[in-house]
Amino acid sequence: MHKYGDCSFCGGEVKEEKVELDYRYQGKLFIFQNVPSGVCQQCGEKYLPAKVAKEIEHRIQTKQKWDKTISVPVDVLPEEVAV
Ligand SMILES: [Zn+2]
Repeated sequence: MHKYGDCSFCGGEVKEEKVELDYRYQGKLFIFQNVPSGVCQQCGEKYLPAKVAKEIEHRIQTKQKWDKTISVPVDVLPEEVAV
């Protein structure tokens, strides 16, 4: 199991969980489920181990048939949305 350091944002404890991960690769969005990743128990920040990221890119490059394809709604916010 990968050893995670404390969260670099809030210093919280990072524990490994199975997460749903959205991953962008060459302008396309992919969703992976059941991904082992570190998750900060305090702020929820995810820490994907380099080994898992590599596996994900390998799967994107070699997978012929995906388990599911979903459509993702996109909204472009108008310029007048204030910050
Ligand atoms: Zn955190």
